[in-house]
Amino acid sequence: MNSCNLKAYAKINLGLDVIGRREDGYHEVRMVMQTVNLYDRLFIKEIEKDAIIIKTDKRFLPVNESNIIYKAAVIMKETFGLKGGLFFDLKKNIPVAAGMAGGSADAAATMVGLNNMFRLGQPMSRLMELGVRAGADVPYCIMRGTALAEGIGEKLTRLDPLPECQILVAKPPVNVSTASVYKRLVLENAVHPDIDGMVESLSRGDLSGVTSRFGNVLEQVTEPDHPIITEYKDLMREMGAENAMMSGSGPTVFGIFTDKDKAGDTGTVLKERYPAAQVYLTRPFNMRKHSH
Ligand code: ATP
Repeated sequence: MNSCNLKAYAKINLGLDVIGRREDGYHEVRMVMQTVNLYDRLFIKEIEKDAIIIKTDKRFLPVNESNIIYKAAVIMKETFGLKGGLFFDLKKNIPVAAGMAGGSADAAATMVGLNNMFRLGQPMSRLMELGVRAGADVPYCIMRGTALAEGIGEKLTRLDPLPECQILVAKPPVNVSTASVYKRLVLENAVHPDIDGMVESLSRGDLSGVTSRFGNVLEQVTEPDHPIITEYKDLMREMGAENAMMSGSGPTVFGIFTDKDKAGDTGTVLKERYPAAQVYLTRPFNMRKHSH
């Protein structure tokens, strides 16, 4: 029967600003998003039984309607009248509840995969429109690459790609709830990052212009709760990162390096000093090199 294999890529935020709170409780953001070469694998297969069945290699993930894959599948089934059932097998490599949009990436892969499998011929823009119903970061995860995300994260503008570099990603063994971080953010105290300057640096292909403008307003909420985030950032900077910051609502920290050996050595030291850390050495995933 009809099936397909997909890669669902994680993102980091190179810049994250919150500029206001909307009446409906959502926040107005300005974020510079970058896809990284770290991905889940998703296998999708049509099945006879009219059900959505999800299997995953991570015991702690839900496999019912709470899994975002399920939500994305329902949106596609209802919008396009897809008949029959679907089986999903998820190999999870992206750290969970980490600020790397792992769930959103799976939802995006689900929508792109079903569009291909059922030859729906929907343009990416239509899938992105539908994707926001599954989550604010889903449209971006469908688009991928380097982008400015505004509104609640769904208004997207493609940016020039982040220049080639090494990205060391490290998730400390603490859990962070995105909703609670946004709730506790005191906007009046926020130090706003220079997002426009970062966009301009990207257009010049100026990596140090980007890293010198790293900033994430959510750090002021998450970091005091989890000083280990500060420790990871300091270690990365001491060991030669151009700069380091927290991604999304955290707790994942990433450092950008121009020197592969330094990035690798830093990863080794991090793992030695913090055996419970999840550490990955990766690179930017850019749309120029990969077709969608
Ligand atoms: P973001 O960067 O968008 O805030 P995140 O990295 O903080 O995302 P996710 O990893 O996407 O968070 O998942 C957060 C929660 O969603 C987890 O607690 C998890 O139980 C639930 N969840 C549902 N479906 C998935 C999925 N397919 N993959 C990961 N988590 C999922």
